[in-house]
Amino acid sequence: MNSARSLLNQTPAEWCRRNPPVELRLPEIQALGLQLLIKREDRLHPSLSGNKLYKLHGHLQRARKRQADLLVSFGGAWSNHLYALACAGQALGIATLGIVRGQRPARLSATLSDCARRGMQLVFVSRSDYRRQSDAAWVAQCLAGVTRARSPYVIPEGGGGAAGLQGCAALMPALRQQLGGLNDVTVCVACGTGTTLAGMLRHSLPHERLLGFAALKLGAGREAYREQIERWAGTAVEKTRWQLVDDFHCGGFAKTTPGLIDFMLDFERRTGVPLDPVYTGKLVFGVLQLARQGHWRADERILVVHSGGLQGRRGHPALLAPAEETVTGGGA
Ligand SMILES: *Cc1c(COP(=O)(O)O)cnc(C)c1O
Repeated sequence: MNSARSLLNQTPAEWCRRNPPVELRLPEIQALGLQLLIKREDRLHPSLSGNKLYKLHGHLQRARKRQADLLVSFGGAWSNHLYALACAGQALGIATLGIVRGQRPARLSATLSDCARRGMQLVFVSRSDYRRQSDAAWVAQCLAGVTRARSPYVIPEGGGGAAGLQGCAALMPALRQQLGGLNDVTVCVACGTGTTLAGMLRHSLPHERLLGFAALKLGAGREAYREQIERWAGTAVEKTRWQLVDDFHCGGFAKTTPGLIDFMLDFERRTGVPLDPVYTGKLVFGVLQLARQGHWRADERILVVHSGGLQGRRGHPALLAPAEETVTGGGA
């Protein structure tokens, strides 16, 4: 296991090389003539795992160039993004501040406790104020009262935005190389803000196929969400190259159903791969459902990107702790 600091000094292309896709042999998938592969970005590092590290890359580069003395971002009580940011800030020796949605609870969530332990200053704001996060004047005012930092660098919620896309650029070229081309492959990824998918799409080729599984209920906002991803990805991406799947949100963002939790426990028992309840659980649940519904033809390969987020399992008692290696460290 590399230290967080040495990982942060490497490039996203180097991160991509560490965990090439592995096959998951599930009899029901094999019976359909399909091959299921998974790229385990959850294994990069126990606290900087998954796409949050990729998304922080561009932001951290900008912040260092500007000699920022404070990294500021936003999130909820179980935010994978704040968790990764606190770890990165500690490793780089840059102070961090998290603006957290909702009142300060009597007892901090395990995620926020870890953030605080890593030195992140936590500022709680009401849910209505939290929605003002893209209002720079409001953020400045919010910071003025709680920090004396001279040069704060503000990262959008979830590490999104143009700088967030940057680090995700390495993923498609790496997959292409690791799988010997992506001709018969559908690349499946979980979507929150859609930044990761957009970054991957941006670096995809016309014949390649991507499927984004929304972790939130899009409803009437579906078209606007699609368009945002398209804008981030760049104009050259035609509609046939990717699809958005929004049938597997299980009631909405961070909502779960007993069926989803049962599925995750069963999948973990059969494959040894732990999933998170907000993103990757719904992604894999959706992928296997689509396979059963005949979405893919025999001989196709399905590649699932495991984007991490395992620390968030702690918010769900039914999931208990996953395999030690992935959350507390010690694995390869
Ligand atoms: C944040 C997150 C996502 C969603 O990434 P976006 O770039 O916001 O779409 C997916 N999986 C995990 C584990 C995450 O933490």
